[in-house]
Amino acid sequence: MNDAEEFKRKHDEYQKQYDEFMKKYYEEHVVCPKCFSRTSSTYVGYGFDFKHPEQYKDENHVKCKCGWAGIYHDLVPIKHLIEDLSLPNKPKLDH
Ligand SMILES: [Zn+2]
Repeated sequence: MNDAEEFKRKHDEYQKQYDEFMKKYYEEHVVCPKCFSRTSSTYVGYGFDFKHPEQYKDENHVKCKCGWAGIYHDLVPIKHLIEDLSLPNKPKLDH
């Protein structure tokens, strides 16, 4: 294997690890923890350390229409929303 191939292989490996981590991360941080609405946030990129992926924290500011404000990292997975929809007291979906 020459250097270029080795570089490409390493790059692909990191890219895959990064993509998988981000996919999981953004499945875990989706909706407002207070009212379970989808919210919008600012879009700043944060550094990702391959040696410490668990330390990744999206600190974009999020402001929800219910009054809750925090950072993207505080958002909760959408499965809470799905679980809540099975309850009689459904939160309203925001479309
Ligand atoms: Zn909210």
